[in-house]
Amino acid sequence: MNALKTTYDVVVVGGGLSGLTASIYLAKAGLSVLLTEKSNKLGGRALTVKKKGAYLNLGVHAFYQDGKGEEVLKELNVELKGANPPASVVAIWNNKVYTLPTDPIKLITSRLFSLSGKVELIKFMMKLGKIDTAKLSHLTFREWAEKEVVDPMIRHVIYSICRANTFVLRPELHLASTAVKQLQRTFGGKAFYIDDGWASLIEVLKYKAEQAGVTIMTEHSVVEISPSDNGLQVSFASGDLLDVSSVIVATGLTETCKIVKGADQTSLTKWKKQAHPIKAACLDVVLRRLPSRCSFSVAGFWLDAPLFYNNPTSVAKYTEQDDGSTVIHMVKQLGENPSYPEEDKWQLEQALDLIQPGWREEEIARQFLPYITVASDFCSFNKVGSYSGPDVPEMTGLYVAGDWTGHEGELLVDAVFAGAKRAAQVVIKQKREERRKG
Ligand SMILES: Cc1cc2nc3c(=O)[nH]c(=O)nc-3n(C[C@H](O)[C@H](O)[C@H](O)COP(=O)(O)OP(=O)(O)OC[C@H]3O[C@@H](n4cnc5c(N)ncnc54)[C@H](O)[C@@H]3O)c2cc1C
Repeated sequence: MNALKTTYDVVVVGGGLSGLTASIYLAKAGLSVLLTEKSNKLGGRALTVKKKGAYLNLGVHAFYQDGKGEEVLKELNVELKGANPPASVVAIWNNKVYTLPTDPIKLITSRLFSLSGKVELIKFMMKLGKIDTAKLSHLTFREWAEKEVVDPMIRHVIYSICRANTFVLRPELHLASTAVKQLQRTFGGKAFYIDDGWASLIEVLKYKAEQAGVTIMTEHSVVEISPSDNGLQVSFASGDLLDVSSVIVATGLTETCKIVKGADQTSLTKWKKQAHPIKAACLDVVLRRLPSRCSFSVAGFWLDAPLFYNNPTSVAKYTEQDDGSTVIHMVKQLGENPSYPEEDKWQLEQALDLIQPGWREEEIARQFLPYITVASDFCSFNKVGSYSGPDVPEMTGLYVAGDWTGHEGELLVDAVFAGAKRAAQVVIKQKREERRKG
């Protein structure tokens, strides 16, 4: 049967985490749902590529527990397999690698900090978990850090760890409440690496969507969504047209503005103008084995550059065979800065030389993503009280979901899952009201 001949209560455009999540909520509420994806597979930026028996996410991907993302996955009965990394990290300062002890006793021996810095860091770590982040929403992360942390080196460490775990390069725009919450999750061991990569999460969500009755169509690109007499009309690249009263667009902010007809007359364009997209350059390599005599640290934070090293294989299953092969992610956080692919690649390779000297001889596969969008926007300080979505007020029946639709400081996939649930709930409520009215 051609799925487009059927009528649907809702069309969801985009088969990444946002679109899949919204579809499941809608279908579980008894609505008929078409999920349409332009690529030949679902997943979007949560795809995992298999190379030489290793599972490569698109750049480093950690799922942060104890937030909206985990809340939604629990509601959908999705269990993740994987592991939390131990606190085995290094810091890089002036091209030298230092162990970054998170244990107060070991910290005493660190060569990175002055004596007063060590005392301050111990006090900071003891205090961090007890901070009530809800009380920090009036501050930017920079204001908070300048006020709370005296030692400049400790400040570097805190900025760097936050940067690596949020991808946000601008502490002056970052809400202190979100940034400190993310530090609490990081220091509290809540980063979680998913076995076999994030594609395994996509597989579970796809299964849940199919079980709930969602019709999924891949290789079905939407080229336009426009107002019509019956609500909205969805035009597909295939030439098919579909009239529907509700559409959730989960394609990323730029694409959403492109496919919604008259987007420039709606809040979509305002949201795009105000957005601070987060970009990154990522070098993911598969090594036959870790070079001998080198560090087994899970993460490396550059204190003087927006660089980050990550070796998830040390805790989670990222390879098909247990043969010693290893996946390493190198990231340069670009924020809103322009990309210089060759320079960035060179810098990432040089950076890896520092932590894993000899890696070049062990390399069996690589993936270089010169300029990838980590998030179309983040819930910045200047957005408080004027969040994006889920409804587009100027266009009845049109809703949005995605990493740029976070409210109240939600970040990365917390914004994705919470935004998708919010959009689905508004549609469900509206449909129930329509049915009650007959
Ligand atoms: C390098 C990198 C590292 C990251 N690390 C982390 C991390 O550590 N922790 C974390 O929480 N998050 C992380 N993220 C963010 C996370 O991957 C994304 O927030 C999430 O995958 C976004 O999901 P989405 O469904 O909103 O968007 P997408 O995954 O972009 O999905 C949008 C989908 O819409 C489809 N589409 C687009 N246009 C059309 C159209 N016209 N018609 C039909 N379909 C269309 C696309 O093909 C795509 O499948 C990272 C992202 C990157 C890139």
